[in-house]
Amino acid sequence: MSEDVYDLTIIGAGPTGLFAAFYAGLRQMKTKVIDALEEPGGQVAVLYPEKYIFDVPGFTKILAKDLVKNLVDQAFQYAPTVVLGERVTTLQRTDGTIVLGTEKGAKHYSKAVLVAAGVGAFTPNKLDAQGAGDYEGKGVYYFVKDKAVFKDKKLLIVGGGDSAVDWALNIKDTASKITLVHRRDVFRAHEGSVAELMKSEVEVRLFNEVRRVIGDGNRIQQVVVFDNRTQAETTLDIDAILVNIGFRADLGPIKNWGLEIDGREVRMNGRMETNIPGVYAAGDIAGAPDGVKLNLIATGYAQAALAVNVAKAYIDPSSKIFPGHSSEMKR
Ligand SMILES: Cc1cc2nc3c(=O)[nH]c(=O)nc-3n(C[C@H](O)[C@H](O)[C@H](O)COP(=O)(O)OP(=O)(O)OC[C@H]3O[C@@H](n4cnc5c(N)ncnc54)[C@H](O)[C@@H]3O)c2cc1C
Repeated sequence: MSEDVYDLTIIGAGPTGLFAAFYAGLRQMKTKVIDALEEPGGQVAVLYPEKYIFDVPGFTKILAKDLVKNLVDQAFQYAPTVVLGERVTTLQRTDGTIVLGTEKGAKHYSKAVLVAAGVGAFTPNKLDAQGAGDYEGKGVYYFVKDKAVFKDKKLLIVGGGDSAVDWALNIKDTASKITLVHRRDVFRAHEGSVAELMKSEVEVRLFNEVRRVIGDGNRIQQVVVFDNRTQAETTLDIDAILVNIGFRADLGPIKNWGLEIDGREVRMNGRMETNIPGVYAAGDIAGAPDGVKLNLIATGYAQAALAVNVAKAYIDPSSKIFPGHSSEMKR
């Protein structure tokens, strides 16, 4: 086969997938990680980045976003191929090779696959306003890959959680002006950050929502917002919109891959094997019929280590499952 065949492809870059990527690197496996999101970290990154976690082994407490950074540093030291912003939609096993198809039409080939898809593929909630869809990627953004795109722009930020507030504070010196609209008067963000926001030059419009995005087809020129208590409209001169109104998780296509599924769980055994040879499951998505289900980061780590080492022996039967002690490895 001429295509680039990986030893292990990991679906999901949450804590389970990232730790699996590290372990696969440690075991010299040619590894790829694919996530539907534009950023790694899974639930930890998108649902509670500013919260402290108290039950990660080795840390008395750690800020969720710092844990993601550490996991990424640990995983990426072996330089796995990382594909972000691509949701895996199909899985087929032919002649011992597993072919994954994505929503972008790409094909990924692998000898083994680890499904570490958590509660499903995360996608950002879209801005439900007239015209918003026409400017996606041309002024309407759901992620910040490089804040320089907002340089000297009049930016509208939509949302009232940690992401919206933190980005407003982070980008305020890059953009020429920031207006933040939030549909309520209570923020779901760290109170210290909200206090800083309220003292800053960011214009905060509470009880405001976006009604219409107006532009010339190539770029945004104005945005009509309205007060949801009175319906009174205001037209703002705006160049770009950053939408931070949460995420949705969807198991979606995984149900059609021929895996044994029970509710929201992919069935695996004590070796993390699913019913498809070479396909393993770990983390929140994995469930054993006679197992105890604990959807925690620590259990995901353990299952990732088991799955990767079993997969190593599967693709190379001359390898042992036990990886040896990392403390005794020469580096
Ligand atoms: C508010 C909150 C607080 C929590 N606090 C704690 C805590 O204090 N301690 C603790 O141990 N646990 C905590 N948890 C649980 C913990 O976050 C999860 O157990 C953990 O994130 C599971 O990791 P995972 O990698 O298995 O899945 P996830 O974190 O869900 O990551 C899965 C990834 O797979 C991707 N994906 C899914 N399907 C596809 C697909 N088809 N194609 C491409 N990518 C796909 C998703 O986009 C996602 O990024 C908390 C959870 C929540 C919601």
